Amino acid sequence: MSETQIAQERKVVTSIPGPKSQAMHKRRLEAVSAGAGAALPAYIEAAHGAILVDVDGNQLIDLGSGIGVTTIGHTNAGVIAAVQEQVTKLTHTLFTATPYEPYVEVCELLNKHVPGNFKKKTALFNSGAEAVENAVKLVRKATRKNGIVVFDHAYHGRTNLTFSMNFKNAPYGNGFGPTAASIQHVPMSYPYRDPQGMTGVEAAQRSITYIEKRVGVEDLAAIFIEPIQGEGGFIVPAPGFLKTLSDWAHANGVLVVADEVQAGIARTGKWFATEWEEGFEPDLFTIAKGIAGGMPISAVTGRAEIMDASHPGGMGGTFGGNPVSAAAAVAVLKQIEAGGVIERAQQIEALLVPKLRELQAKYPVIGDVRGRGAMIAIEFVEPGTLNPNKAAVDAVAKFMHSNGVFVLTAGTHYNVIRFLPPLAITDELLLDALSVLEEALKSL
Ligand SMILES: *Cc1c(COP(=O)(O)O)cnc(C)c1O
Repeated sequence: MSETQIAQERKVVTSIPGPKSQAMHKRRLEAVSAGAGAALPAYIEAAHGAILVDVDGNQLIDLGSGIGVTTIGHTNAGVIAAVQEQVTKLTHTLFTATPYEPYVEVCELLNKHVPGNFKKKTALFNSGAEAVENAVKLVRKATRKNGIVVFDHAYHGRTNLTFSMNFKNAPYGNGFGPTAASIQHVPMSYPYRDPQGMTGVEAAQRSITYIEKRVGVEDLAAIFIEPIQGEGGFIVPAPGFLKTLSDWAHANGVLVVADEVQAGIARTGKWFATEWEEGFEPDLFTIAKGIAGGMPISAVTGRAEIMDASHPGGMGGTFGGNPVSAAAAVAVLKQIEAGGVIERAQQIEALLVPKLRELQAKYPVIGDVRGRGAMIAIEFVEPGTLNPNKAAVDAVAKFMHSNGVFVLTAGTHYNVIRFLPPLAITDELLLDALSVLEEALKSL
């Protein structure tokens, strides 16, 4: 079966995971480190658009995109063509030894589309965490200061430096040795859980008080913030929060880094989620997940003088900006440029959000519906309270998984279900997935 012949429909032919998946899972438990988890051990053989086909022949609707990676759609024709062409020409030289054009082209495209009215430059890496690590190095070198401020509910990766920047200790950092120094956590704007009526400006003032009193600006290099938090549960800060913070930072000689690893690249109905708040002006951006249709590549893009602060040889890595991944990124970025992709994310929000609000009115276990574009979440509570309801999320996710809809959970309290579909998803598949969600809610 050619991937592109996969019909865009849900099909459940065995239990999920089915017998073949269960057999593979046995092998995995024997061979693979226990440190890698599995949200749903159905082994996927092929995928196209928004459909995953498992080894038992089940067709699952993908509402996760591998955590916002296959934004352009699984086995996208443009990505396939670019990868196939590049792989026959050149797969590796090491950009910092003997360079190649696709790397430069990705940098040019990102410099063009990343927000900011200033001269920009870019460097490429392999993963989101690696991009964040290099952004930390750059802001420290550029400012000659050490302090890094991050926010409650934030997620920045699983390396030693980035797990130290996460809000949650478990499961990312606990037991894995000392955390990195000079990282300070401050409150985030979380409209659903903040005091009622608290504005974005007031929430920013609360964060700024923490920074000024507890951290101090003297040795503060930068603030790192996800303009819409990913793993934290798609928390969209109140309007005015991001602008107030970045205005304060710039008035105090502090840089601002937008971690757009999950929210960037057309996901929220703009090129970057930063663009939703006028006046929010990050100096650097970290970019990864959705950029190359599933091929591993990441970037730091931003003010040229900060990007040039590193001495030659200070940044790099063997595989960073690999030619095949770079060719895939060019194919994705050019499709977004050509139009229709960003608009599709907006249409997905327009379809999903009113339907989810209807469900919220019927099922008070849904406390909040939030997000932008194709980055939408529902937060579960014990009805009539703000108490997180992880049990309901587990039951709903399990019901959806066994009925052929793959959803991811999120949230500091694991009480959020997130909708992060490939933008190639059809309206029919979205409506079908919503009907399964409603059955799951009924079954609670
Ligand atoms: C996923 C993620 C990262 C880490 O990216 P990896 O590629 O998994 O290392 C960093 N920041 C944000 C906001 C993320 O969502």
